[in-house]
Amino acid sequence: MLKINTISCLQDNYSYIIEDSTANTIGIIDPSEFQPIDNFIKKKFNKIDYVLNTHHHFDHTGGNLELKKKYNCKIVGSKSDEKRIPGIDIKLQDGDIFKFGSVEFKIILVPGHTSGHICFHSDKEKIIFTGDTLFSLGCGRVFEGTYSQMLKSLNVIKNLPVDTNIYCGHEYTKKNLNFCYKVDFNNHYLKEKIEWVDSKINKKEPTVPITIKEELNTNIFLRCDVPYIKKILGMENSSEVEIFKKLRDLRDSF
Ligand code: ZN
Ligand code: FE
Repeated sequence: MLKINTISCLQDNYSYIIEDSTANTIGIIDPSEFQPIDNFIKKKFNKIDYVLNTHHHFDHTGGNLELKKKYNCKIVGSKSDEKRIPGIDIKLQDGDIFKFGSVEFKIILVPGHTSGHICFHSDKEKIIFTGDTLFSLGCGRVFEGTYSQMLKSLNVIKNLPVDTNIYCGHEYTKKNLNFCYKVDFNNHYLKEKIEWVDSKINKKEPTVPITIKEELNTNIFLRCDVPYIKKILGMENSSEVEIFKKLRDLRDSF
């Protein structure tokens, strides 16, 4: 079984240190920066085997080269981003299996936020690292893809087993919650979540991981096909992707 440590980086990023103790394998998901990762690693394991990047953005790869230099680890990322991921060694495509010690991660290509964005999913561990594609109660901005690609990517994640735990790249939950609740104001799951999110934030604790099941009930970007959502937007006759675009645009200016 994997042990996961959540490390706060930069302003609101999360990097994750993953440990397979049976195989003595240590990895870092999306090292935003060197120092907070190194502080943890040098005290606890004093080694890193792999850095795993979900996408090329600086706030997810900023620690790559320094970590590689100090720990001689291998850098794992998307084949289609081989020119943009600093220090990449292992290049992965959609459907590939990446063996991390005794754990197998399936690579899911999720274009939209960036064209080469990938998620690392383990069926057995019931975990997925979603980077900037799916957040708790939100999703990433559409930078390099189309709205239709981004929606398709979110729907792939949405259809994973409902007890899958989502580990995302940012702590945006509070603002995302405010947005979801503003639009979807009758949703009692959202209402019930306000107190929990506030208490986590006040204690400076992460609001992740969250399960797909929770997100299906609350994350408006996973609910673009729900007739009620179409109705409150006054867009009963619109397609799922039109609803998604409308919500993403509203969220961009929220
Ligand atoms: Zn990003
Ligand atoms: Fe990011």
